[in-house]
Formats: sequence, C-alpha cells, structure tokens
Amino acid sequence: MGGGLRKQYRLLGDLPVVSRTLTIFEKEPAVGSVVLVVPPGEEDYCRNELVGPAGCRKVVAVVAGGEHRQDSVWAGLQCLPGPPDIVVVHDAVRPLVNPETVKEAINAAVSYGAVVVGVPAKDTVKTVNALGMVVETLPRDRLYLAQTPQVFSFDIIFEAHREARVEGFYGSDDAVLVERRGLPVRMVHGGYDNIKITTPEDFMVAAALTGENTLLRVGHGYDVHRLVADRPLVLGGMTIPWEKGLDGHSDADVLCHALMDALLGAAGAGDIGRHFPPTDEAFRGISSLTLLAEVRKILETRGLGVVNADTVILAEKPQLAPYTGQMAANLAAVLGLSDSRINVKATTTEGLGYTGRAEGIAAYAVALLHRTSAGSEVSGRER
Ligand code: MG
Repeated sequence: MGGGLRKQYRLLGDLPVVSRTLTIFEKEPAVGSVVLVVPPGEEDYCRNELVGPAGCRKVVAVVAGGEHRQDSVWAGLQCLPGPPDIVVVHDAVRPLVNPETVKEAINAAVSYGAVVVGVPAKDTVKTVNALGMVVETLPRDRLYLAQTPQVFSFDIIFEAHREARVEGFYGSDDAVLVERRGLPVRMVHGGYDNIKITTPEDFMVAAALTGENTLLRVGHGYDVHRLVADRPLVLGGMTIPWEKGLDGHSDADVLCHALMDALLGAAGAGDIGRHFPPTDEAFRGISSLTLLAEVRKILETRGLGVVNADTVILAEKPQLAPYTGQMAANLAAVLGLSDSRINVKATTTEGLGYTGRAEGIAAYAVALLHRTSAGSEVSGRER
C-alpha cells in the first residue's frame, strides 16, 4: 500500500479492515470459531488491537502465517478446534463480502463438499505467450473470477492441503488444491463489491462502497442548568459578573456542556454523562474546559476533527452579548481551532418559560466533524 500501516490494519470507517471482516463471521450463526492467521510477530498486536476492540469472541486463536498464502491457510487449519465439519477460508482484506453470500456458501458446502465464491468475468480474457502475442481468447460465458470465502468439508481441504505440501504444489487459491485431486467444486455467485483491498485505489473504492468516505458527521447538544445564589456564573470558560450562578456538579458551564454533547454526538461517542458521570467525585467543581479537552482527545482517537460548531445560549439576563466573542475564543482554543470555527450567540426567550423567568440558562450546540487524514490509520502502528 506504500508507506503507513499494513492495509489490513487501516481503518475503513470506524473499524480496521480485519476487524470489519471478523465481525461478519462473528454475526454468522453457522460459524462457531475463527482462527486469524497473521504475519509472524504481529499476533499480539492483532489480538489486542483488532480482535479485542471489535468484540470478536469467536476468535479462538491468532496464529503466525507462513511464507505463502497456502502456508498460512495450512497453519490456520492446524489450530481449528474440533476438528469441525466445515471450514470457511476467507481473505481478511475482503471486508465487504455480503453476509448472505457467506451463508449461501456454507450451505452449499454441506451439499457439495467444496465451494468457491466468484463472479462472472466482465472483461474478455486472453492468454498470451512469452512474446506478448495472444494465443487464445477464452469463451467469456463460462469464466468466473474466484474470490473468497471458499468453503470446504474439513476432511477434504485438510487432505488437499496435506497432499499439496507433500508434492510441493502451490496454488493461487484453496479450491485449486481440491480441483487437482479430481473432486467437484461448486461455484457460488459472489458480488463485484467483494473486493480484495490490496492497493490504495482499492481502499478508496472500499470507502466509497461502504459510504465511509462520507467525511462529515453532524451532532446536536442541549443542556440546562438552574440559576442559584452563591455560585459563579461560568459560560464558555468565562466567569461573568452577576448576582447568581449556575448550579451543578462541575462548574455548570451549560454552553460548554451543550458543545461537548454535540461533539460527542457527532462522533457517535455517546454523551457527556457517559464520559464524565456526575456521580464521579473527580469531576466535582472541575472546569468544563478541562472536560472539553478530554472530548477533543476522544475525537482525535477516532480520527475526527471539528469543522465548526454553532451554539446559542438562552438567558433572560445578564446581557451576554459583550462576552460571546471571548467565550468562542476560549472554546476554540481548547479544541485547537481558530476562533472563527466556534460561534457563540445569546438570546433571551422574551420572558417566556423557565429561561424567561431567569430560573435557569439553557444552551444549544450543533457541531460538524470531518474525518482527519490521521484517522485513516490506527495510531502507533507505522510500517
Ligand atoms: Mg450540564
């Protein structure tokens, strides 16, 4: 893939490619256990960073592969518990396989013993000689391009692999090892979108197919705090001189809270209460700007950056307009943004409702996030 992470560890949307593939098999009821075969020395990384976070409980082993694809499959076959009746061999870099295709291939293997998923060739296929001259044009109506999964009775594929090893035969897929023994192999229709991600261009296609190249995410936040005596009024990280302040566990910065909820919402990361529970004494009296800095870290971990956020404070009094510019600057500074990316407005509610009676102050926020370039890679895994 040219620099950076190995392609199978890169994020496709919220999940690394391998994790995405694993979740398909995690959800398929017919699959009992999964063995993940990875490059030697990367077993721990894959176990900790790919299997664990994706919640793939069916993975019973992460084992080192061999020099060739066929050696790796052989290594995986050794580690299957059982042995099982049926084995599904799948390229970890085909995360877009349709779960229905997996199901269909497994069912077909029960009947036929050996199944390969593939798609009809759309282009005309010609063979050429060593001089680059066309030797033959193959009849296209019977040409299929083999993909994975390839699904077999365990006994059939194990014996086919064992025999190939003894004879020193290397095939470009697993089915050919069965074919050369004269055994029938059933073709099951796959999808043209079941691509193997091997080049940067493939990655772009995969992102487009999954909609994961949608770069923008929007979130909404809302918060209210009660106005009480003997509390400072903190809004947007500023202490505003007034006779009352907002009540709350932290500094009760209602504007900052609404913004944090909008950011967490856009990230698909829950809400403020989940990350900073009011039952936690660590957050008593804390500056909400400190919590906003934590939200920034959550976004960065997920490869997300802030495009902009717009906010509005609902307060009958005091008059907030003189302070909104500084509030925006405070919030932007914590998020590492220029001031223009965060907008703070204030309005009264014309004397109506609890805000109008000055019983409390409310705030709304809308935030727009984009996927940052750093987010296309899992941090700390440079190649
Ligand atoms: Mg709050």
